Amino acid sequence: MAGEWPKYVFITGGVLSSVGKGITTASLGLLLKARGYSVGAVKIDPYINVDAGTMSPFAHGEVFVTEDGGETDLDLGHYERFLHTNLSKKHNITTGQIYLSVIEKERRGDYLGQTVQVIPHITNEIKERIRGLAKETGVDFLIVEIGGTVGDIEGLPFLEAVRQFGLEVGPRKVFYIHVALAPVLSTTGEQKTKPVQHSVQELRRIGIQPDAIVVRTQRPLEDEPRRKIALYSSLPLSHVISNHDVDTIYRVPLLLEEQGLTALVEEKFGLKKREPELGDWIDFVEKLQSASRRVRIAMVGKYVKLRDSYISIVEALKHAGAHLGIKPELLWVEATDIERGARDLSFVEEVDAAIILPGFGKRGFEGKIATIRRVREERKPLLGICLGMQLAVVEYARNVLGLEGANTAEADPNTPHPVIDLLPWQRGIDRLGGTMRLGASPIKLVEGTMVRTLYGREVIYERHRHRYEVNPDYIPKLQEAGLIISGWSPDGLVEIIELPRRENPFFVATQPHIEYKSRPLSPNPLFKGLLIAASGGDPLAS
Ligand code: GLN
Repeated sequence: MAGEWPKYVFITGGVLSSVGKGITTASLGLLLKARGYSVGAVKIDPYINVDAGTMSPFAHGEVFVTEDGGETDLDLGHYERFLHTNLSKKHNITTGQIYLSVIEKERRGDYLGQTVQVIPHITNEIKERIRGLAKETGVDFLIVEIGGTVGDIEGLPFLEAVRQFGLEVGPRKVFYIHVALAPVLSTTGEQKTKPVQHSVQELRRIGIQPDAIVVRTQRPLEDEPRRKIALYSSLPLSHVISNHDVDTIYRVPLLLEEQGLTALVEEKFGLKKREPELGDWIDFVEKLQSASRRVRIAMVGKYVKLRDSYISIVEALKHAGAHLGIKPELLWVEATDIERGARDLSFVEEVDAAIILPGFGKRGFEGKIATIRRVREERKPLLGICLGMQLAVVEYARNVLGLEGANTAEADPNTPHPVIDLLPWQRGIDRLGGTMRLGASPIKLVEGTMVRTLYGREVIYERHRHRYEVNPDYIPKLQEAGLIISGWSPDGLVEIIELPRRENPFFVATQPHIEYKSRPLSPNPLFKGLLIAASGGDPLAS
């Protein structure tokens, strides 16, 4: 008897953050989906920010944007890529959201007469959100990842809520997975299990007995450490799963499948065993691994020290590369170094193409503009994304149109030529949280342009996250000077630009973040175009 639906899987982490909970969540989701179930995945972030939109990419990596304009944790990107689905912003829950809504309810008088407390009011709010989302989306499985590490003070209300949740819905409807790190000592090469044991103990002290432990480790978990972890966690050996380093994160679902993680879930829920359909996924992983034609791509940005800042772009390159048999090699270039003279532009000669990365705040802008100029003059392929597109317009205005001092108002509010500017509706905004142009909207592609041909569709939906726009006053002049506008928003904003093919084999820049919707099994056509051009091919020939 399967009992009622939906089923819930809760994923907690131990020892360290960044231990792979997100990939475990995404992988299990994929494995369940491959068995014909509908699956949703939720990330809980115990920080007090209402969303990730106001956080620095240095601290938390990329801000991922959902179709409905949520500014979320980057794990949602992994979920969407593995599940091949769009998730709404409700799939990222933060402490900030929970408290905000409890405090609003208190002010409205919803709790009249009561003392509002963490237990039960905050924990109830958490449980209601999880339940409500499962109901609203109608999924068979909702997988909920709790960010941070067991033992963090911020995470306690969530763990308590999740414990109560298990009691309320009953054991046949919840499955708890604990993901923890077993470090290898460099001196002896031993896999150490004590940190895992301690974090499981901490979890049980809170009242959660895990159903399975996923152990992150460098090499396959050996028998003795597996035995120890099983013993201390009161679990059979088969419930301790090794999640050791593999060549690509996209192989992790296969690794977990081999060791029977999904079978454990089916067993606990009393579900009939199903065979997963993983053919396409395996095919993708094999292509990714065997892609051998190397192209070198300069990644020009200012958050290059933390690679996670641009994770969706890196993944989009992998998706496109796998489909083309191309292995992109990335050369990370700090734009600030160029502008302060610590690096010259000779790297442009060494690469096959460049991506001008998104960003905020004027530091690094001039370094990017100088790079764009060199790349354009050398006729190398270029892809600009968001800020990268805005700066490509600035470069064109300055050096082709001859508008001296042209700039984006973000860098120079007093520029004589604000070719990139705030539109009136952005001017009055005084709060920075959630006030950008966010989420997916339709973009009409212009017949005859390269971008239109590559997408093969007239209308596309891509996601936005920006405040500034190409200033409509300059559009005619830019077009006269040769800049092609390949995509427009319904209200006449510039979305995508390109240069004529006689000038450059592939010079395309997009206001939306085209990386967010690239998926392993459906890469974005412009990333493919860039890679084809970078490898010396004709993007329109294939
Ligand atoms: N800073 C620019 C803007 O706000 C670009 C943003 C981005 O690259 N995501 O418009």
